[in-house]
Parts: sequence; structure tokens; C-alpha cells
Amino acid sequence: MQYNDNYRHKGLRKKLVEDLRAKGIQDDAILDAIGSIPRHFFLDQAFDDWAYKDVAFPIEAGQTISQPYTVAIQTWLLQIKKGDKVLEVGTGSGYQACVLSMLQAKVYTIERQEKLFRKTSDFLPEIGFNNIRTLFGDGYKGAPRFAPFDKILITAGAPEIPVDLIQQLRTGGIMVIPFGAGETQEMIRIIKTGENQLKKEKHGYFRFVPLLKGTNGE
Ligand code: SAH
Repeated sequence: MQYNDNYRHKGLRKKLVEDLRAKGIQDDAILDAIGSIPRHFFLDQAFDDWAYKDVAFPIEAGQTISQPYTVAIQTWLLQIKKGDKVLEVGTGSGYQACVLSMLQAKVYTIERQEKLFRKTSDFLPEIGFNNIRTLFGDGYKGAPRFAPFDKILITAGAPEIPVDLIQQLRTGGIMVIPFGAGETQEMIRIIKTGENQLKKEKHGYFRFVPLLKGTNGE
């Protein structure tokens, strides 16, 4: 497939960055990442015009690409530093993983839908993101092979805090998790302040597809 990023897309992307700034996103590195990643590559071509509106959008397998504002907030809460080893649970379209990668994190991303896992495994290198490690599996269990992580980001609504993920977070590390089983989830930032000690902060309400157990093959 040919990926075309033209002046119209670039203009729309600039406008999206301005919208996010107006909504209170101030971190220049995050805004630069959003300003440079062609989000329309992550949506079906027919929906080009939707790519730069600040909304979530359906992708394959009944899942969604998160709203840009939500991506910006979750990324900001993680306080990404160059070289951070980050686990993302819920690869979806792969967009959030690319934002993390642009901030020079070492990104591992896990997806339970085999179809989405396969798609992003081909697509991300195709558009130049060669160093994102895509994994297929149940993110509730994390990726023990690659633990510990400096940061863990959950991009689906979690009815509980996965204990395995807390274990795979290094002491001093940060986890960002939309928490709640209902229609909306409360954004929680968890800081692992000691081996058995967590500090939790609340950061407002958002709407996510649910974090589900097990995997879904093709
Ligand atoms: N981060 C994505 C948005 C993801 S939507 C993006 O940038 O596009 C949430 C994703 O989490 C969906 O693709 C869903 O299949 C996945 N998911 C839900 N439960 C999961 C689990 N237990 N492990 C891994 N992925 C999960």
C-alpha cells in the first residue's frame, strides 16, 4: 500500500495540534510527536478527513484508535524520558505506540486480538517505526520476558488493576490505567514508590473499550 502524506494532511495536523494546545496540552515534545505522525495512515483511507478531528474512531475487530487528547494526556502522565522501557497494553491501531516511540522510549506493545497484532506488526515497520516490539497475548499478564518496565500504559478500560503488571513495573516506575468497569473510566496514575508500596492519583474521566481477559485468534 502507498502512504501519501500531503499538504492538506499536514495542514489538518497543524490544526489538531492547535486544538490540543487550546484544550490544555502544553508539552512540546508530545505536541511535536502528534504534529509529525500521519494519523490518517492508521485509519482506513476512506476516513482521511476524520483522522485529524479530536475524536476516537473505530478500527478493525470492533476496537478503536484513542482520541488524540486522550493519547496526549496518557503520554503526559507517563513522564516519558529518553530510553524509558515502556509496555503498552492494547496496541489497537499502533498510533499510541508511535507517539511513545517518537519520544525515544523503547516500546513494547501487546494486543489480544490476533488480527490487530498481525496488522500492526507489518504496518509499523512499513511506515518507518522499526523499533517498536509488537507482542500477541493477554496484556493482563504483561510481558514477563521483557520486564521490568519503567512505564506501563494501559489503553483499555480496566475493571481491576492487573497484579502481574504491578510486579513488572520497576520500583520508581509509573503506570497509567483507565480504571472502571462501567461506561466511563477514571484515569489513575500509579507510582511504584517501593517494592510493596504504591501511590495513586486521579486524573479525570475518560471512555475506553474494555480490557478483556485471554486472547482472540483469527
Ligand atoms: N492504543 C490503541 C487504542 C487501543 S483500543 C491505539 O493507539 O490505537 C484498546 C485495545 O486494547 C484494543 O485493540 C483491544 O483489543 C486491546 N485489549 C483489550 N484487552 C486487552 C488485553 N487483555 N491484552 C491486550 N490487549 C487488550
